[in-house]
Amino acid sequence: MTSRGQAGSGVATVVRASVLDDRGDVPMVIGGQRVAAAADEWIDVFAPSRHQVRLGRVPRARVADVERAVAAAHTALPGWRRRHFTDRQQALLSIAGVLSEHAEELALLTAADTGNALRPQARPEAITLATLFRYFGGVASEVKGVVLPAGADQLQYTQREPVGVVGAILPWNSPLMIAGMKIPAALAAGNTIVVKASEEAPLAVLRLAELCAPYLPPGVLNILTGYGTECGAVLAGHPGVNKVSFTGSTAVGRSVGATAGDRLVPVSLELGGKSPTVVWPDAASPERIDETVTGVLAGMRITRQGQSCTAGSRLFVHEDVYDRVLDATVRRLRSLTVGDPLDETTDMGSLINLSQYERVRDYVLDGRTRRDVEVALDGLSSSFDGLFMGPTVFSRADNAWRLAREEIFGPVMVAIPWRTDEEVIAMANDSHYGLAAYLWCNDLSRALAAAGRVESGWIQVNQAGGQMVGQSYGGLKQSGTGREFSLEGMLEAFTTIKQVNVRIGRGQPEAAL
Ligand code: NAD
Repeated sequence: MTSRGQAGSGVATVVRASVLDDRGDVPMVIGGQRVAAAADEWIDVFAPSRHQVRLGRVPRARVADVERAVAAAHTALPGWRRRHFTDRQQALLSIAGVLSEHAEELALLTAADTGNALRPQARPEAITLATLFRYFGGVASEVKGVVLPAGADQLQYTQREPVGVVGAILPWNSPLMIAGMKIPAALAAGNTIVVKASEEAPLAVLRLAELCAPYLPPGVLNILTGYGTECGAVLAGHPGVNKVSFTGSTAVGRSVGATAGDRLVPVSLELGGKSPTVVWPDAASPERIDETVTGVLAGMRITRQGQSCTAGSRLFVHEDVYDRVLDATVRRLRSLTVGDPLDETTDMGSLINLSQYERVRDYVLDGRTRRDVEVALDGLSSSFDGLFMGPTVFSRADNAWRLAREEIFGPVMVAIPWRTDEEVIAMANDSHYGLAAYLWCNDLSRALAAAGRVESGWIQVNQAGGQMVGQSYGGLKQSGTGREFSLEGMLEAFTTIKQVNVRIGRGQPEAAL
């Protein structure tokens, strides 16, 4: 692993040039206005890649601010939902164009406040954001109902209606992409929205709101910044919020789900994961092994330091090719450059904050003490400053081991050998998570048989890229409920069905059952 050391002052320059006002603050957006919190309290935002560098301040929103934002979203709702879908479509397509023009600025900002490397992570994410606005703008016409064949004297139809005001809560690990899963989908269907950005990485999301502003009536899109308990929980519990869409940890998702359930409002939960990557012997042949190992690293989301809910962090390799695949994986991981997220040669940036760094470090330290596990690669052994950490691989681990079960959310993989398909599918499924899975196998009938049996919401065969717009995305088990990213996700998550039955002309009223 090469370290290019700490990020320079580049991150601060990026932020100053893009979002800071004269006081070095970045206000929230409520009702079309850029505002401070009612109590004028602020949260410092630091560059994770240089954690002593303060990038700016964002408002510390509390109850009064949530009240204001939800009220603004309600005021805007009737006008927005009444619009012809082509108007909403045009607004979203115009925003997509502006986001494409500003993709580099958004990529730099998100690299600055998440610590994710610009080239492999932040730049593709900013492009995906624009693509998501374009996609949901495109499918705005699909919010359709159906007509029942109920006879000539009856018109019986359904119409899909917006749910109302959506409360959306974002995590820090890929804030732009997750904002892109929720905002354009909710708006295309005629809802208005109040978004709570993560306190760890709010800057690019606030810039996104600014870029959207010329195309949306005030109050259609509101962005709050604040802490989880003071702002996120208040938003999820607010009686004016008609739908909650949450992406984050399983622990917080459980409480958000309980709050929404108590109020009987619909909720989507995109939560954690501990996803399996399975390598069959034929995917490790001399001709295939490079491609497979490239995919193993991509599935591990190593260019996001493994800070991804879909990270394929449990690597199951067939015993016959175990050593070969493990050696090639470790060799490739060693060749990665860890350092300044803004440097074009960087493959891995920094972890998000000190507590996350310490959490991941403690997992690695725990692994080092185990006599029954081999340390194939030790990410703590290289000297990195600040919150940078190299990848770690523990080898010949047991699937029941704590590190093979808990979501580490860092660059730590656990490799496990297997012998039979039956055995590996059982191990893959022996997890309380069920988000993603990556299957590397030349024999497609074998791979598809496994795909049918692996308990995950999203399975990739012989590839490991990120989500493609239009696909259904979401988890099983404790990885969450509901689907986003797709047309069907938009319809399920952000619309409700109304049935209308009409007697036509002098037809007979329908008999009551
Ligand atoms: P987190 O759960 O700590 O926080 C997520 C958001 O919830 C933040 O905005 C936070 O302020 C807010 N929050 C915290 N406490 C809250 C409460 N009591 N009520 C309401 N909101 C509250 O998660 P994180 O650390 O930001 O993100 C990492 C986690 O997110 C990981 O577990 C990861 O797997 C998960 N994640 C899931 C997906 C997915 O699509 N399934 C995507 C990205 C991240």
